[in-house]
Amino acid sequence: MAQVARVTEHGGGVWSIPVPIPDNPLGHTLVHLLDTDRGPVLIDTGWDDPTAWDTLTAGLAACGASVSDVHGVLVTHHHPDHHGLSGQVREASGAWIALHAADAQVVRRTRETEPSRWLDYLEEKLTAAGAPEEHLAPLRASRASGRTRLPGQRAALPDREIVPGELLDLAGRRLRAIWTPGHTPGHVCLHLEEAHPAAGEGLPGHGRLFSGDHLLPEITPHIGLYEDPDDATVTDPLGDYLDSLERVAALAPAEVLPAHQYAFTDAPARVRALLRHHEERLAGLLTLLTTPLTPWRLAEAMEWNRPWEQIPYGSRNIAVSEAEAHLRRLVKLGRAEAVPGSDPVRYQAI
Ligand SMILES: [Zn+2]
Ligand SMILES: [Zn+2]
Repeated sequence: MAQVARVTEHGGGVWSIPVPIPDNPLGHTLVHLLDTDRGPVLIDTGWDDPTAWDTLTAGLAACGASVSDVHGVLVTHHHPDHHGLSGQVREASGAWIALHAADAQVVRRTRETEPSRWLDYLEEKLTAAGAPEEHLAPLRASRASGRTRLPGQRAALPDREIVPGELLDLAGRRLRAIWTPGHTPGHVCLHLEEAHPAAGEGLPGHGRLFSGDHLLPEITPHIGLYEDPDDATVTDPLGDYLDSLERVAALAPAEVLPAHQYAFTDAPARVRALLRHHEERLAGLLTLLTTPLTPWRLAEAMEWNRPWEQIPYGSRNIAVSEAEAHLRRLVKLGRAEAVPGSDPVRYQAI
């Protein structure tokens, strides 16, 4: 079916194409097209789905380009709503795909890890977090059936690395990679260091920031653990995220072009609001942790966008990961500690 593409021209050789995400309340990914002297470059590509593909190609046509013209694909992070169609774009055009090394590693590992290894890891991790038997049983059943397919197993391996701090090799454009870990270990924002088309009208700030999922106008991105069955490093994704927020606020871009929702100005104000939100959330958790809790019990007690009973199975895993990321942060700040000898481990406020 022919797709109607509602592309937005942002000026200065920048467009956005809303590419639908099937069965997802987020609605769509904003794929950005950046014109270069060697042809259009895409920032993210959208979910791997036929309707999404048709919308992307129709969107490119509406921007006066064709998918076969695409010269390169810059991926803000490895999630399937951003990187899903990258491989298909490369097949249709011969474009290169670029990703930060840490997210390239996630793609490589996901492609190579046997689903049973991943299920073992999840079961071990959730057991340690205090998940109840009724949550663990489906994991064991799934492993016994041998039919599990991991999302991301078909994700494309990149051809190039996005190197933080460096200008990307794009003919006729000044686009700098800013490493913004937190939402994923290799998330990047891309700063277009060229005068904003409306700069002459008194718009404060410098250039435009393609912010991926790092900075969104109304949504707080999910911050969980950087799940890796083969790496026992105790990372601090929430700490990384908060640092990354400060980094993009310091850039003070005139406009932010995020991968979901809509473009907005005043990035520093949005960063302040998010920092405040996380401060309040951490303070709320400390109150809960006056009673020692496992990560699972903490997740149950935390505030989500709906009551815990209504949170579906897979989202509960994500919620526990988010609770653990917050616990890591509190432990690192010296505000909480593991109760010695507790198994599954319980945490308490200090
Ligand atoms: Zn994401
Ligand atoms: Zn996303």
